[in-house]
Amino acid sequence: MLDLLIHNATLPDGRSNMSVAVQNGCITEVSAGLQAPAHEALDAQGQLLSPPFVDAHFHMDATLSYGLPRVNASGTLLEGIALWGELKPLLTHEALVARAMAYCDWAVAKGLLAIRTHVDVCDPRLLAVDALLEVKRRVAPYIDMQLVAFPQDGVLRGTTGPQEHMETLKRALDRGVDVVGGIPHFERTMADGALSVKLLCELAAARGLRVDMHCDESDDPLSRHVETLAFETQRLGLQGRVTGSHLTSMHSMDNYYVSKLIPLLAEAGLHVVSNPLINITLQGRHDSYPKRRGMTRVPELLAAGVNVAFGQDCAMDPWYSLGSGDMLEVAHMGLHVAQMTSQAAMRQCFDAVTVNPARVMGLQGYGLQPGCHADFVLLQASSQVEALRLRATRLRVYRRGQLLAQTPAATSTLFMPDRPDSTSWRQGGK
Ligand SMILES: [Zn+2]
Repeated sequence: MLDLLIHNATLPDGRSNMSVAVQNGCITEVSAGLQAPAHEALDAQGQLLSPPFVDAHFHMDATLSYGLPRVNASGTLLEGIALWGELKPLLTHEALVARAMAYCDWAVAKGLLAIRTHVDVCDPRLLAVDALLEVKRRVAPYIDMQLVAFPQDGVLRGTTGPQEHMETLKRALDRGVDVVGGIPHFERTMADGALSVKLLCELAAARGLRVDMHCDESDDPLSRHVETLAFETQRLGLQGRVTGSHLTSMHSMDNYYVSKLIPLLAEAGLHVVSNPLINITLQGRHDSYPKRRGMTRVPELLAAGVNVAFGQDCAMDPWYSLGSGDMLEVAHMGLHVAQMTSQAAMRQCFDAVTVNPARVMGLQGYGLQPGCHADFVLLQASSQVEALRLRATRLRVYRRGQLLAQTPAATSTLFMPDRPDSTSWRQGGK
């Protein structure tokens, strides 16, 4: 007998009236109208069953710290970094863990079951690293978490000197941090930025680890570290294992240069993560009008065959006062800023918060095929586009076939003469 049988589901590829059979935490069969005995049967009523949302770019050590010790008055990336520097001496292990665990509760309720989070490794005590390693352990039954060793102050620029910074970063990796990070545009010079990319990629290659760098997160059209990242990826044979995050300078670059750059990224098998909510909030702050939005060139990268994901990046921290772990909100914003409004482009935006970030993280067993983990979200929508339009309610969230979270359908009761008694904002019906 099956553990769980979901029937009458619509799948992201558009197939409807589909059944999904689950046994021992795995999907065993996906077919139309399957009948089989099961301990639990669920009628999806034609709603969209999706693999869980994935966030390939987050900062869990800073989350839910908004207002501590003060708010970011200018709204810039650089004031955010300075503010984080003021907050760091005040952090405690217990408070870091409590805030991160609370965010993970939000994430699960939003169907977000895999998160790659950067963790600042400039503190020689590695306080945040130890806290997030504990969080990773505690949430492992329900969230796949990857940690990135992120030298927020610059691995060469930091105040304790490059040698000690690199040693601290290596100690973080020794303790179980999964991925090598970097921030080349924050190093003192363009040359130091390029050197940091080289050193950190070599470290990742030597240890067999993936790389995910904050890269060119500025409005400077001449910030071109992603070119170096692609070069080092190829030189060291790291294709498919390296991610360039943000790449906001590409928004401002010369078009001719970009016509050379994007094929280089594709050739190197580089993954790209764009963070629409944060990029458009932090960038362009030195502009009058027109104000640049700073989001990287998502449709052009996708057209060149580059795997692009959308990330949440921040939620209620020194850089961003909003956010709730809702990846449909992230994709909704990305869709608007990138003007990805065709039906096909909107479906690409849905992929950018599901299958694409799963590839960035190298998740195994992700998807709705037989043999995959029985991890999925039932949405109050009949298609990916409707899910984006409504930032649809996550009716049920499952991990390994077990129910993790449940939310009542969003419906408003109406009290108007000659009108229906309720609406759920669906086309052609309630
Ligand atoms: Zn970031």
